[in-house]
Amino acid sequence: MKIICIGRNYVAHARELNNEIPTEPVVFMKPDSAILRNNDPFYIPDFSKNVHHEIELVVKIGRLGKNIEKRFAHRYYDEIGLGVDFTARDLQSELRAKGLPWEKAKAFDRSAVLGNNFLPKSQLPDINAVRFSLDINGKTVQKGNSSLMIFSIDTIIEYVSRFFTLKMGDLIYTGTPAGVGPVKIGDCLEGYLEGHKLLDFMIK
Ligand code: ZN
Repeated sequence: MKIICIGRNYVAHARELNNEIPTEPVVFMKPDSAILRNNDPFYIPDFSKNVHHEIELVVKIGRLGKNIEKRFAHRYYDEIGLGVDFTARDLQSELRAKGLPWEKAKAFDRSAVLGNNFLPKSQLPDINAVRFSLDINGKTVQKGNSSLMIFSIDTIIEYVSRFFTLKMGDLIYTGTPAGVGPVKIGDCLEGYLEGHKLLDFMIK
């Protein structure tokens, strides 16, 4: 199983980090060892002093595909979930400044938080207008809507499947809206997708 992630997929988030608005999807990956489920706590790793939360819609791939056309992309997923793409922002800035790959900052152990429950597409009124949010200690810090994605889910599937064969069970983290920021020990994170609480875990 692989985890494909899209960066800078919301204009307001790209701007808050002073990044250009991309003209094609920014793609990176995490290994399966990055998954953190069951609302287990996230332990801040010792190599970062600035780990940021990024709440994201997660697409679970339901069938094998390669070179998928956008008009058929909807056939390749049935469920949408919620995740957090934890990012060691200090390390990422260092690596970016040197033109090096991001893996150490993005793909470390437990950096891909995943809600246990996924919602079937049939329960979502419009896949291109899905609301989601992240609360920290009871206060909403990130609010997203898939209508604001620069690249829609179907466009992402078409694009990434040109490079990578998609397999059943693969996950696509579709990018974070604005409002990213550091987490600290003791924080309680709660993630909501269309009113369903899918994440509820602690920072340790
Ligand atoms: Zn992200």
